[in-house]
Amino acid sequence: MRGMGFNPDKVKLPKKHYSSWDSSNCECEDGDCFCWIDFLEDLDNLLDKINDDYYWKVNAVNCGWTKSSGETYVKAKDARNLLWKVLPHTDNTFKIYKYKKGIVITNSHHDSPCGGEWYFVRPCSYKMWDEFWR
Ligand SMILES: [Zn+2]
Repeated sequence: MRGMGFNPDKVKLPKKHYSSWDSSNCECEDGDCFCWIDFLEDLDNLLDKINDDYYWKVNAVNCGWTKSSGETYVKAKDARNLLWKVLPHTDNTFKIYKYKKGIVITNSHHDSPCGGEWYFVRPCSYKMWDEFWR
């Protein structure tokens, strides 16, 4: 069952996204990117509110050039760690929406120039995470 029932066409996201990232908006000098640090701090605040633990269930839909979908479980202690484990390691442009008990990340990059990559990220229990990776 592709996408495990997560169909972006049927999901009604909030009108306004919680936050977004586009590295082309960054005008920092060489070295630390302060907008990225601010962005992560802001996302940490949201993640702390929706999950008091480190475990997340992730459903990916339409990802990469294969347009594949799948499900995984990640342990992430902060926003930086979560994004590193969820998104492809490339120059991502994405929006974050609050959705039900978690978040949705809509992402685009060079393998998905039109966007369309969706990540449903929700809190899960240690037990679920453990059973998946055991
Ligand atoms: Zn910057």
